[in-house]
Amino acid sequence: MLGRRLCVVKIGGSLLRDSKSYIESAQKIREVFVENGYKAIIVVSAAKGVTDKLVQVAKGSQEALRHIVEKYLEVAKELNSVKVIKRVNEELKRLEIVAGAINRSGVDLSLYDFLLSFGERISKILLVGALEATGVNALELHADELIVTNETFSDASIDYISTSANLEKLYSSIVDSPTIPVIEGFIGSTIDGRITTLGRGGSDYTATAIASLLNIDRVYLVTDVDGIMTADPDIVENAKLVRTMSYRESLEASLHGAKRINPKAFEPLEKFYSSKLIIGSWSKFGTEIVKEIPRELWGPKVIMNRASQDMSYMAIVGEGTSSVQFIRNVLEIIDRNGIEILGLQSYVHRPSLLVYVSSTYELKTLHLLHKELFEGV
Ligand code: ASP
Ligand code: MG
Repeated sequence: MLGRRLCVVKIGGSLLRDSKSYIESAQKIREVFVENGYKAIIVVSAAKGVTDKLVQVAKGSQEALRHIVEKYLEVAKELNSVKVIKRVNEELKRLEIVAGAINRSGVDLSLYDFLLSFGERISKILLVGALEATGVNALELHADELIVTNETFSDASIDYISTSANLEKLYSSIVDSPTIPVIEGFIGSTIDGRITTLGRGGSDYTATAIASLLNIDRVYLVTDVDGIMTADPDIVENAKLVRTMSYRESLEASLHGAKRINPKAFEPLEKFYSSKLIIGSWSKFGTEIVKEIPRELWGPKVIMNRASQDMSYMAIVGEGTSSVQFIRNVLEIIDRNGIEILGLQSYVHRPSLLVYVSSTYELKTLHLLHKELFEGV
């Protein structure tokens, strides 16, 4: 297997809905990566909605607990492997015990993270089972043994030195063996072995940390949409895919609430190795995120409408959007269309321009700016 190209592939929770989708994801991993000569390190998220439910479990919801147990058991049964069913059952029993302990004693920070970790830990067992059922030999890795973090429970940061040492030890078994490694995203553990979680959406961070510590060029973030869009396509029907963005642009977009990437995911890429992020679905990988983009690609990339108190603001993100010329252009568009603005915010060192309007103008401004800035009108 020497010479196979290494990549990291994060399977997002949006793709893991039910028993069929675990098998489908496994088949796609096989078709898209394994059969094309890639050695993919798979980072897996919890099934869709499970982490939200675990948060409710911590608040005492029995119904949420039942929902998770049913969902994961259903997938396990569908995979039809005695080994998988047994392991999932064991994990679900432990989950019930931890949930009981939290409800009795109140939320202890480390217990809370332990509870949240079941989403990814069980999901990994299921994906490994699905890969095996699809004829792909999987090598199961354990994030709580490999990914070392600080003690900031619920929003832990990865200790790159210890994690890198752990990954190095495994490097030859990862690279030289014909098996496909699978690890949980979102979780790690403290030096003394307590499980931590990396913050919501943290699987991205696991994926970029592994890639950058092992000098791997590509990280695929596989989700249920074809990539990052110029605006929310549910609101702006002409929203288009953004083909290329820089880390800075995409970090800025996530700071303004773009759902796609966890902001912490950029840190290891900036610090150690600038892997390329490729975002999309199994049918299309539409967006690439690279360290830097050439000058020709400067300009607005995405526009998002956000609410803040009783105002709304449009965040226009892209290199060059804080330049005087761009701001003048936006003001001219707004003025020409009789929209009253309440404020503007931009900093020269950040690739964004925020335009505040009263909530009544929110959608009108969004549509107008999208049309003028992105639809070449
Ligand atoms: N399952 C976790 C969450 O929902 C982590 C992730 O999906 O990246 O936040
Ligand atoms: Mg996610």
